[in-house]
Amino acid sequence: MRKRVEIKAIYDQDLEQVLMNLGILDKLIAGEINCAVCDCSVGLDNLGSIFPSGNDIRVSCDSDKCIRIVTTKGVASCNG
Ligand SMILES: [Zn+2]
Repeated sequence: MRKRVEIKAIYDQDLEQVLMNLGILDKLIAGEINCAVCDCSVGLDNLGSIFPSGNDIRVSCDSDKCIRIVTTKGVASCNG
């Protein structure tokens, strides 16, 4: 629950600006990005987390399972 609140707080601030800076906002809106864990389509409505993977930026959907897997892998740098 706490993680969801943090993510919503990020969204309320300037998530779209962050996504634009990362170059993935357009792709998210177009539905071209999939969850790195379960491979479902991720958009702004179900964006769970953002994390770097090599030179790429990957995202997960907002399912508790996917967020937990991403964060327990130690790639939760988007939490600040
Ligand atoms: Zn997922």
